[in-house]
Amino acid sequence: MKEPGSVGTIIGSVTGVTFPDSSAVLNVEEHASSLSNWERTGFPKQGGQSLSYWLQQVRCDPLLDHRTTQNLPAQADTVIIGSGITGTLVAKHHLQTWPDKSIVVLEAREFCSGATGRNAGHCKPDQWRHFGKFEKAYGQEQAIKIMKNEASTWRALVAYIKGNNVDCDLWVGETLDVPLDDEVAKIAKEVFERYENLGGKVDHIKVIHDPAEAAKVSRIKNAKACYAWQASTLQPWKLTAHIMRDDIEKGVNLQTYTIAQAVNETGSSTRKWVVQTDRGAIACDTVVHATNAYSAALEPSLKGVITPKPHMCNKVLPPRALCGSKAIQNSYGVLLPDGALFSINPRCTTDGIMMFGGSNPGQKQLDAWVERHPEHCIDDGLSRVENVTECVREFVSDNLEGWKDAEFGPGEGFDYSWSGIIGLSADGVPFVGELPGKPGQWICAGHHGHGMARIFTAAPGLVKLMNGESWGSTGLPEVYQINSERLRRLRTASEQPPKVATLNP
Ligand SMILES: Cc1cc2nc3c(=O)[nH]c(=O)nc-3n(C[C@H](O)[C@H](O)[C@H](O)COP(=O)(O)OP(=O)(O)OC[C@H]3O[C@@H](n4cnc5c(N)ncnc54)[C@H](O)[C@@H]3O)c2cc1C
Repeated sequence: MKEPGSVGTIIGSVTGVTFPDSSAVLNVEEHASSLSNWERTGFPKQGGQSLSYWLQQVRCDPLLDHRTTQNLPAQADTVIIGSGITGTLVAKHHLQTWPDKSIVVLEAREFCSGATGRNAGHCKPDQWRHFGKFEKAYGQEQAIKIMKNEASTWRALVAYIKGNNVDCDLWVGETLDVPLDDEVAKIAKEVFERYENLGGKVDHIKVIHDPAEAAKVSRIKNAKACYAWQASTLQPWKLTAHIMRDDIEKGVNLQTYTIAQAVNETGSSTRKWVVQTDRGAIACDTVVHATNAYSAALEPSLKGVITPKPHMCNKVLPPRALCGSKAIQNSYGVLLPDGALFSINPRCTTDGIMMFGGSNPGQKQLDAWVERHPEHCIDDGLSRVENVTECVREFVSDNLEGWKDAEFGPGEGFDYSWSGIIGLSADGVPFVGELPGKPGQWICAGHHGHGMARIFTAAPGLVKLMNGESWGSTGLPEVYQINSERLRRLRTASEQPPKVATLNP
């Protein structure tokens, strides 16, 4: 059994793990990939956003441009900046904790038009794959805690949707992680077994090491192994909208198309902070930054700590050989040799339209282009990024039954792609808690392209902290806590963190 390296390494932009004697890399991130420029940031792009499939489905929903009051209130107890799943859930738990306090939610554009409204629709709790990376960075106990937290986040999300009959295309079933290369399968096996041997819970994961059996079960021709466990897919905008409607009914004031430009001290004894917007100012006691990828534009102390990066999602209508009784029944993480990954959400119980996200091999060219044109780091108006789409075409043609020779009629096959902005965290885990040196300003952001498996516990956790409760009461891994030492360490970390963590023999 191989041992991991030393604890405490800063490996935020690590996208995979390997062993010294291997040329292959096991991907550990659903959507992240490394950066050379962590300093870039920006406010949400105004105009020209590409429309995700989720946003296309709700064009006549009045929540998109909702303003609860015509004018911005001059005061509120709490101002929440951002109407994605984080801001919306923070408002929900704030209402439960302090029903009488007033809340304004500010959103720069349409309701929930950031990452939540543009993602690939997976809530896939990582149950072993990240373990190698997080053990190396934070030690066994925290790494196991992260895996447990992802499982409880998924359970909380599913329980909420079922308990409230939320119409959001929920699918619950087996997600499959499928390595497409012998070396990747070998690293995956080592990481999995190490996690198991250290007491990680794996009895809910079905493992197949025989490639022929893996190919049969997964329906992916070149599969070398297959790991299966329970996860979900959903329509993320509809879920968030359901929660926000309830928030509004209980008194939240939502103000879309309102950009928070700065947060300053009022200097008065009544309200501590004033949030400056393009439509006026709101004085308040408490501010919540639910701004994920855009956090550093508003809060400069987060520069180099939370960094925006565009990723693509492709919408594809499968060939007839994969429709009807032969439709795909699982979601996937397909693990490629160079640390790349396709995430596949086939919307098994709804329309069968397939969403291809993840860090596919073509993402590297997109990343390189953004490095040369950093102003595009917040560009969620991208489409037709051919390098990314071409990789999806090759994958489906080589690996999925009936795709290569399919004759596609109009309305079938590759439809279009959109971009969304990921909030990369410099150490790969979110920031939850009070902003150091700014009492009354709180944050839950930097979800590193994996927020759907984190926010359903991180947002209520933040509200507990706002209520003066201990970190322990949140149940969150300690490494998610924001503090000045963590920020200082990340800001002074080497300019270019390593891209791959080598697990020592
Ligand atoms: C293409 C893509 C695919 C993804 N796929 C998955 C997946 O399958 N599974 C998964 O777990 N995660 C996925 N993610 C990541 C996931 O979507 C995010 O982690 C999660 O949605 C973050 O939620 P949030 O509410 O914190 O941020 P967001 O949803 O981005 O919300 C932040 C909001 O704040 C607003 N805002 C920012 N600054 C200001 C300001 N100054 N004033 C006013 N408003 C402001 C923004 O407009 C935005 O609406 C994906 C992300 C992308 C981009």
